[in-house]
Amino acid sequence: MQFIDLAAQQKRIRSKIEANISAILDHGQYIMGPEIKLLEERLANYAAAKHAIGCASGTDALLMALMAFDVAPGDAIFTSPFTFIATAEVIRLLGATPVFVDIDPQTYNIDPAKLELAIQAVKQDDPTIHPIPQNCSQLRPKGIVAVDLFGLPANYGKIETIAEKERLMVIEDAAQAFGAEIEGTKAGAFGHIACTSFFPAKPLGGYGDGGMCFTNNDQLFETLESLRIHGKGQDQYHNVRIGVNSRLDTLQAGILLAKFDVFPEELILRQQVANVYHDYLGTQTAIVPPVVPPNFKSAWAQYSICAPDTDQRTKIQTQLKAAQIPTAIYYPKPLHLQTVFAGLGYHYGDFPVSEDCAGRIFSLPMHPYLTEKEQEKIAFIIMNECPKRDC
Ligand SMILES: *Cc1c(COP(=O)(O)O)cnc(C)c1O
Repeated sequence: MQFIDLAAQQKRIRSKIEANISAILDHGQYIMGPEIKLLEERLANYAAAKHAIGCASGTDALLMALMAFDVAPGDAIFTSPFTFIATAEVIRLLGATPVFVDIDPQTYNIDPAKLELAIQAVKQDDPTIHPIPQNCSQLRPKGIVAVDLFGLPANYGKIETIAEKERLMVIEDAAQAFGAEIEGTKAGAFGHIACTSFFPAKPLGGYGDGGMCFTNNDQLFETLESLRIHGKGQDQYHNVRIGVNSRLDTLQAGILLAKFDVFPEELILRQQVANVYHDYLGTQTAIVPPVVPPNFKSAWAQYSICAPDTDQRTKIQTQLKAAQIPTAIYYPKPLHLQTVFAGLGYHYGDFPVSEDCAGRIFSLPMHPYLTEKEQEKIAFIIMNECPKRDC
């Protein structure tokens, strides 16, 4: 069994992919070919964002979004400690300081109530209000990078209200959530800039690295377009700012166009897979299945569940592995405990929800082509290992 079955998808769309690649080999515009604009238009239209800017990875999309706001040393950027390293890495890369805010135990996304406390703690340089990095006295609150973990959007209703009150910018890390929704508004349309990733394992994945920024703001769009090509002005030989080389490859755009044709249907299939898991695990085991709040739709990048404790998790994973069923742990170590961020001075105990989840969470195979039979097999092993009351 595959954790993510890219081959099943390729079988469906192989001829379309080959036709698109073939067309690119014919026209030869490997850099910024016409497929880039086409993909940007299609995805912007889908997410109902005014502009889209393709780039080389989800990480670069986040980096460029922060650069578009001139994020620099002295800036405090509020984000989740329970995410992939890239979210906080790019903040530090620009010399700014990630200020971590614990997650909601149900959604695994940043907890808006704690976000308010963290902002006050930085403003007053008072770690008794909320844990903050060392030497916080020099920091200015600048923005929030909210993460849509496992495909579920963060609570943008509350996050954007707080941001407006505090005059902070908001960046949506939708690397895992393209296709997700809140009340009909799609991921990619939240915050001032939204960023997604086309890493092969993401809901809309290519055959290599790629990413995209979305924004409704004309000025930010112009800045992002410039940043992606060495801070270009009227062209790349007239430079107006420090930028990066972060174009999306034309070949990758051609592949993504073919994949996007089946993407809406794949989202429905992912939802069905999630429903089947939920019916088994939510009612018949001591497992905590994912919670999707009312009016939210997940893109189901991962189906992540919590075992009652670390030992139970190990036992379940071992049993599944013996049956050739792969699982993964996202994420075994919250970012505030990572060696790379030791200099921020955080400690174990600062973010108990993230720490607790890291010890119990694991992800089951999730892709649109998982069969009910395969899911049944997975569910029975878990039900056996972790029945309703007694574990
Ligand atoms: C995958 C991911 C990224 C980075 O995307 P890449 O395309 O791999 O650079 C950033 N944030 C989150 C939450 C991710 O899952």
